[in-house]
Amino acid sequence: MPERPRWIPAYAGMTLAGVRNRVGNEDEAVPVFVTALSLTAGIIASPVEDWPPIVRGEAATDADVVIVGAGLAGLVAACELAETRKKVVIVEQEAEQSLGGQSFWSLGGLFLVDSPEQRRMRIRDSFDLALEDWMGTAAFDRAEDYWPRLWAEAYVAFAAGEKRAWLAERGLRFFPVVGWAERGGHNAVGHGNSVPRFHLTWGTGPGVLEPFAKRALAAAAEGLIAFRFRHRVTEITRSGGAVDGVAGDILEPSAAPRGEKSSRAAVGRFALHAQAVIVASGGIGGNHDLVRQNWPKSLGEPPKRMITGVPAYVDGSMLAVAEAAGARLINRDRMWHYVEGVKNWAPIWPDHAIRILPGPSSLWLDARGRRLPVPLYPGFDTLGTLRHIRTTGYDHTWFVLTRKIIAKEFALSGSEQNPDFTATSWRQVIARARAGTPGPVKAFMEKGEDFIVERELPDLVRRMNALIGEPLLDLKTVEREIRARDRQIDNPFAKDMQIVAMRGARAYLGDRLIRVAPPHKLLDPKAGPLIAVRLNILTRKTLGGIETDLDSRALGPDGQAVPGLYAAGEAAGFGGGGMHGYRALEGTFLGGCIFSGRAAGRAAAKAAG
Ligand SMILES: Cc1cc2nc3c(=O)[nH]c(=O)nc-3n(C[C@H](O)[C@H](O)[C@H](O)COP(=O)(O)OP(=O)(O)OC[C@H]3O[C@@H](n4cnc5c(N)ncnc54)[C@H](O)[C@@H]3O)c2cc1C
Repeated sequence: MPERPRWIPAYAGMTLAGVRNRVGNEDEAVPVFVTALSLTAGIIASPVEDWPPIVRGEAATDADVVIVGAGLAGLVAACELAETRKKVVIVEQEAEQSLGGQSFWSLGGLFLVDSPEQRRMRIRDSFDLALEDWMGTAAFDRAEDYWPRLWAEAYVAFAAGEKRAWLAERGLRFFPVVGWAERGGHNAVGHGNSVPRFHLTWGTGPGVLEPFAKRALAAAAEGLIAFRFRHRVTEITRSGGAVDGVAGDILEPSAAPRGEKSSRAAVGRFALHAQAVIVASGGIGGNHDLVRQNWPKSLGEPPKRMITGVPAYVDGSMLAVAEAAGARLINRDRMWHYVEGVKNWAPIWPDHAIRILPGPSSLWLDARGRRLPVPLYPGFDTLGTLRHIRTTGYDHTWFVLTRKIIAKEFALSGSEQNPDFTATSWRQVIARARAGTPGPVKAFMEKGEDFIVERELPDLVRRMNALIGEPLLDLKTVEREIRARDRQIDNPFAKDMQIVAMRGARAYLGDRLIRVAPPHKLLDPKAGPLIAVRLNILTRKTLGGIETDLDSRALGPDGQAVPGLYAAGEAAGFGGGGMHGYRALEGTFLGGCIFSGRAAGRAAAKAAG
């Protein structure tokens, strides 16, 4: 058994967490934001029963608005409502230690367009370029893409406009080197980011969450927001054709640490009445049954084996509840799962998968040792790669690389895998840059079940076969691919498009500094040892969801707003029921929660009068 990660110590009172370096030794542990929230369990648990009924007009309710889900989208919506002095109840199936949902675990990458960080890195970006990229990536092609398309345009305008300033005002800061995710590799009007746009929040996911959590908790202290943890909504109630509240199960208390699976045993029932309900319950990535059920036809059969990139509470159960209340779900078959998943050696949630964020140089082989086709290089086209993998008859693929490549090109997604950035420690970030292979990556090389390190290629291939338990790889096939690729390094020009792309990437200062290794031969002993990584499909994001208009009002099958019902965040496909279309440019999910949560909060506040 791997040692239990220590970085999130047992939940104490209601500080958000002491985030600790789970890969370094304990003495180096760095508390991140032991927040100054000084929250007492009393504020958090402040029972709604203590609130006098709210009378606005004729109706007496428990709150103006009920929000389902205390993730980022729910908290942003709650902050907007509290600013207008509306009373809000946030209902959350997990316990208080999970406040913030997935955002806490996220890497905190944000899609920004024409930012000061980009300009300092000499990147020329613009709204027009970003919109072209977004539309080429989304490839909207359905009648129900009407609202998703409008959301996409509005979101790109937000990312190119007020987003950065609005977030900076709330205390967000960004790492100066902008990352280049989903590079595409197609023609200019096709999929992918033409330029780097992935801005890493200083403090990673917790850094994105903190300002909104703080504001919501301060509003709770003021009596504007009440939290109902361990309350699981099973019904959205209606009267006179309008949504008037929620009902569900009260779950038994849980001391499960943040992110771990908690009990679903019910100890009672509850009902809450409000003028409006905002569904901010996240996606379906933690529920493999739902993922398989909705698996896109264009990707063939769903994989037999997938690992899980989100906590178990991302269970999608609330989507059917919203549907039963009259909301229309669209684009259910659009999902954003990754193809570079490795099993976490120190799992927090069941089947915990970590995504490798790869630079472009690893050689990508299918299960039989054949190179993936152009332009399916690491970090180029997630969906295209997944589609190709589904044609190979196997669920896994391989990266083959060198120590030199892993040192510069492997990053791991998730706040806990980046203790230096999460801890906002320049000292640690500089130490990482100097140390070569980052500590968390080294830990995977030593303890991760998917990693193999060997000096000689025959030994590497033998162990790759042993890991799968079948001799799927033939040494000759693998060697031929590697030697052919290595010959392309001899000249400063090449016909191999991956080598061309690696050289092209190094023309971007950020890539040359920290992301792309100098091109070299994989079989050069000086670059070794050789490393093979078995890559699994990991479930993560849900791109479709509840159809909404630009005010985040949930729409019914007739295209009319369901009175009193709103949806935001991943539950709403990040806005409109699928603003990403088929694919994402990355860093667009947290921002999508913020943008759609804000819209929902503002519109519900207005409607509540
Ligand atoms: C490891 C990791 C890395 C990521 N990195 C990035 C990144 O760098 N950039 C980016 O843009 N995105 C990233 N993401 C994605 C992003 O974090 C999520 O898409 C986003 O946080 C979803 O927020 P949400 O509020 O919509 O839903 P969630 O965070 O899932 O919150 C929903 C909440 O609703 C609750 N809930 C669900 N059903 C019910 C019910 N019936 N009753 C009561 N409560 C219920 C859940 O328990 C949960 O707490 C990452 C995600 C992960 C896991």
